[in-house]
Amino acid sequence: MIKTCEEEAKNKRIVKLINKLYIENDLRDDELLWLIDNIDDESKRYLFALSEDTRRIYYGKSVYLRGLIEFTNYCRRECKYCGINVFNKSVKRYRLSKKEILDTCIKGNELGFKTFVLQGGEDPYFTDKIICDIVTSIKKMIPDCAVTLSVGERSYDSYKTLKIAGVDRFLLRHETANEELYRWLHPYSYLHSRVECLKNLKSLGYQTGAGFMVGLPWYKSEDYVKDLRFLKNLQPEMVGIGPYITHEDTSMKNYKSGDLETTLLMLALIRLLLPKVLLPATTALGSISPDGRRRGIELGANVIMPNLTPVVNRGNYSIYNNKKISGSESAEALQMIKDDINSYGYYCDMGRGDSKMIY
Ligand code: SAM
Repeated sequence: MIKTCEEEAKNKRIVKLINKLYIENDLRDDELLWLIDNIDDESKRYLFALSEDTRRIYYGKSVYLRGLIEFTNYCRRECKYCGINVFNKSVKRYRLSKKEILDTCIKGNELGFKTFVLQGGEDPYFTDKIICDIVTSIKKMIPDCAVTLSVGERSYDSYKTLKIAGVDRFLLRHETANEELYRWLHPYSYLHSRVECLKNLKSLGYQTGAGFMVGLPWYKSEDYVKDLRFLKNLQPEMVGIGPYITHEDTSMKNYKSGDLETTLLMLALIRLLLPKVLLPATTALGSISPDGRRRGIELGANVIMPNLTPVVNRGNYSIYNNKKISGSESAEALQMIKDDINSYGYYCDMGRGDSKMIY
């Protein structure tokens, strides 16, 4: 197809910006905005090839596997998008006992997992003392493992206590860097409190994970630029992003979910802005499209988190509709996961898989 002069000039600018991003690992905000608004399918393929190349430089073809344990779905928070928020009365609440958590880790260790991600709602039952006891016991049983926590906002002193007890990493998505939207999504909370928590985690030496949801209501390209700039400035060791997915029992049930293509574009941009970051192909990505995980990995994502949560509880950690909980998302199907990853041309690394940013 013959291109007009205008199209050719536009195309040249897109390629120039992608090359600049690949070489300098940054762009100005106005350049990022223009790129997001103008990138076409052909240039996306070029961008994805360079984001994959960037991952290969630091992590080769390995994909780290983490065992995810969703240990409580009690939550005191009001996050409008989330199926386990405090207002949802139709959730069957559960909380794993210390023994159940330790048994799950033992099972995970037998399968070969060396990172356990303990994720849950903000459940006041899990005081520092209780979490420290659990983490210390996990570390005593499996000394060569890493423990990641994802239990929401806590005080500086609490994060410090948990770090001393042996927690290695902490995931706390900032959700959106748009302050006004953050307030709409969390009517009783503020973005600055969440950001303060992230800074505290970084200052305490945690490998820290931030991230956002793609396709939130009213989201514009400017909002994505804000999220990307926020991540670039924070320099987190891990970034978790995925599409926002509607949950039928939330007040946001009538807002549509985020899409695959925008999520993939954001993953590629993040890989280039933060070349050494640990970047999961999230369950949400795999839940909106059957080939979401493959496409995420092929453009630079390098972590997946198979679900180790006891099967009886798994369905109740329903944060969005149609969350994948079986088959290739479940730790029992480890061989299937390994085969899948091999078939994409990568291999699974079951080691601790620490961030390369800390060395
Ligand atoms: N309570 C912890 C916290 O606030 O960080 C961790 C649990 S929370 C359920 C984990 C993540 O799930 C959130 O950071 C959010 O980004 C994601 N999440 C919740 N509801 C979602 C939805 N409807 N669609 C996509 N992601 C969602």
